[in-house]
Amino acid sequence: MTSQSRTLIQEDTAPVAVAAPPARLLPNLIGGRWVPAKGSGTVDVTNPASGEVLARAPLSSREDIEAAVAAAAAAWPDWRSRSVGERTEFIYALREQFRKRLDDLAASITREGGKVLSDARAEVTRAVEVLEVACAAPMTMQGRVLEGVARGINSETIRQSVGVCAAITPFNFPAMVPIWFLPFAIVCGNTFILKPSEQVPLTSELIGTILLEIGLPAGVVNIVHGAHDAVNGILDSPGIRAVSFVGSVNTAKYVYRRAAENGKRVQSLGGAKNYMIVMPDAVIEKTVSNILGSAFGNAGQRCMAGSVLVTVGAAKDALLPRLKVEAEKLIAGDGTDPKSSLGPVISRAACDRIHQAIETGTREGADVLVDGRKAGSTPAGGNFVGPTILNNVKPGTHAATDEIFGPVLSVMHVNSLDEAIELVNKDPRGNGTSIFTENGAAVREYSRRVEVGMVGVNIGVAASPAYFPFSGWKDSFFGDLHVHGWDAIEFFTRKKTVTSRYFSVGETGKFFTEQGDKK
Ligand code: NAD
Repeated sequence: MTSQSRTLIQEDTAPVAVAAPPARLLPNLIGGRWVPAKGSGTVDVTNPASGEVLARAPLSSREDIEAAVAAAAAAWPDWRSRSVGERTEFIYALREQFRKRLDDLAASITREGGKVLSDARAEVTRAVEVLEVACAAPMTMQGRVLEGVARGINSETIRQSVGVCAAITPFNFPAMVPIWFLPFAIVCGNTFILKPSEQVPLTSELIGTILLEIGLPAGVVNIVHGAHDAVNGILDSPGIRAVSFVGSVNTAKYVYRRAAENGKRVQSLGGAKNYMIVMPDAVIEKTVSNILGSAFGNAGQRCMAGSVLVTVGAAKDALLPRLKVEAEKLIAGDGTDPKSSLGPVISRAACDRIHQAIETGTREGADVLVDGRKAGSTPAGGNFVGPTILNNVKPGTHAATDEIFGPVLSVMHVNSLDEAIELVNKDPRGNGTSIFTENGAAVREYSRRVEVGMVGVNIGVAASPAYFPFSGWKDSFFGDLHVHGWDAIEFFTRKKTVTSRYFSVGETGKFFTEQGDKK
């Protein structure tokens, strides 16, 4: 081979920049089939650890929502007339698949949402717990009977399904939040439409695939991807009777108003700013680990993240040096790397917003005790912010009031429990809170007086188990019936009272036997 021909060969085979094919466009699940959305426009679904485009979510239109409503409405009569035991069998099967495919589901959550695999596995485990509680429907759906409301008359209250129900869910729990609603809705005899977050639609697609595999009848669960138009389609559709929403405060308010105006039953969960109060007698070592887990787990992207730490009196000096040392040991990195303590935040925009919040915090007088922005402290390529602690945050500043929704802990100091309670109760939101102390009287005082739905004692801001209601207060929740526990059965059923009298002995002196009427 001559040198010339070698050159030619090299030129011929030189890499040519070829545009990558567009990422897969996700279909909707309607009436048991995967179908393309009719709405135009798409959103890239990216891996927040690397920026890789994983898929494209369609921006479904009202027409897509109406197609899902039609499928769900058509499936309802047969589904609601099946026995509760038969419907429960499907929830058992779904729960079995969630356990078997825990690794697949966790991998999907980490891939599109970024959280570390241990957090993703914990999320799936929480979803399994919810599925198990939904399996109690043959007990929990029972009504009440009173014999003898008048002579020979009984009254009974029965629970019946509501109809087509829909849920609109956020990005931060791609498996658990849809499962807060789906199993309770369908086990009670309703049919269901899920509009997952357009930022994390792949885990919902996997759940849809599992539902088809277990043979759930067509139309009982439908999945429609999209954003604002799809949400408005749900809120306005006359065919949808109940709406469950989880997301930020302003959208939660909007959803609550618009759905209620259209005559729907609504439960609408908003954002949060959760306070952790440390009393001077707290067990410091254990308190530190709980605070770090609460503040930085899921990179602070939890409605139950502990985002404000309030030390009371001498707790400040005992706690802060230890907290700083331990926070600096945490590593932000790819969620699939077992060395990572926290993963990336969901998007580049979220990353920029969090950096901005830290800068605003320092401008407004806070001291940076631990700085997650330090160059080189996080891997390149993804949307990483390291654990950050802002100390001496002043009441009323942005760091004290904004839901930063990232790994940023704001620290404030007060002199008494009364002052701490005042701070917590001034906040317009009230999702979760924790107090760290060995003093039972302080616990009692705190848990009685705080205007917050979920209170933890010597435990990081704690979500209620699935058999209790998950219940924020104030701007963290709009509606009456909360998530899971008994509230879920109340939300997904309508009560009907039947009052009945049968004319028999004592009235006609007759009753029926196989031999015919006897005196
Ligand atoms: P988000 O409000 O941006 O989105 C939630 C859902 O609403 C998504 O499905 C989205 O498509 C839709 N949506 C967003 N803006 C809309 C608009 N203007 N009109 C119509 N639909 C709209 O919330 P997010 O960023 O996905 O999730 C984070 C937020 O959710 C945080 O505020 C967090 O505290 C909150 N959250 C609350 C709870 C809770 O239990 N209270 C649980 C998880 C998350």
